Amino acid sequence: MTLSRTYGIVLKIAAYGESDKLVTLYSYDLGRVTGIAKGAKRSRQRFVNKLEEFSLLQILYRPPRGPAGLLLISEAELLCAHLSLRKVFQRYVAAMYISELLLRFTRDNDPDPRLYSLLQWALISLDKADSPQKIAALYHLQLLAAVGYRPELQRCSNCRHPVGPGRTFLFIPGSGSLLCSSCHHQKGPHYNRLSIQALKFLASAQLVTLERLNRLQLSGQTAAEAMDALYHYTFHLLQQDIHSWQAMRTLNITPTRKSIMSSSLSHERTSPAEARSRKLDI
Ligand SMILES: [Zn+2]
Repeated sequence: MTLSRTYGIVLKIAAYGESDKLVTLYSYDLGRVTGIAKGAKRSRQRFVNKLEEFSLLQILYRPPRGPAGLLLISEAELLCAHLSLRKVFQRYVAAMYISELLLRFTRDNDPDPRLYSLLQWALISLDKADSPQKIAALYHLQLLAAVGYRPELQRCSNCRHPVGPGRTFLFIPGSGSLLCSSCHHQKGPHYNRLSIQALKFLASAQLVTLERLNRLQLSGQTAAEAMDALYHYTFHLLQQDIHSWQAMRTLNITPTRKSIMSSSLSHERTSPAEARSRKLDI
């Protein structure tokens, strides 16, 4: 049997039957693919601590027989666990949101090295304790651009007035563009008012390279505004909800320092991934 080799980041794990697991990865050269790890629930040697969400793996696999088939994962080697993403609640929530967005915006077997690099950047940044809201907002913005839905955030889509002081701007989810206060006369049901600060941040984030993204700074309030607008735009594009948004949204309610500490500590004792692992008896 000829085996092939690839590496990729685990987006989703699901139990399959009594002893197998289905592993969905974003692979550098295959794009989004799903493989089956036979006996993964029982074989603690071949796959132990490897088949976990957000892990970077090198896998040996047998290609599927047909275009819609599953890879047969023979072996997995853990290259980077991004462990804190499964231990710290805020990072876990942001990483789940990032994974779900990528799952929704991609098809199987359609590799895009930019999407791989963007995902890798986001998980490494989260693992280094950068602000989860900021990383999620930047990832979301860059993902939309990479898949052809870059929002227009520099000027009013009607009168072309550039973003700046003197006018307010609404983000229109149906078109992914702005209307200034001279062009809109009433507030729509899902229109997001974006501050000049949030718009300037988003516009500059569209221009910088991945290497420079981390240098951008934004407050919790600005991140919340930006994320809310991007979520509504994405909801309109997908015409379906993003399940992890509800949890992501709770991070946008700026907590006090004390509650951040207690939340982080309590979740480090029992992380969501650990709780779920127990439930699934992995
Ligand atoms: Zn206008």
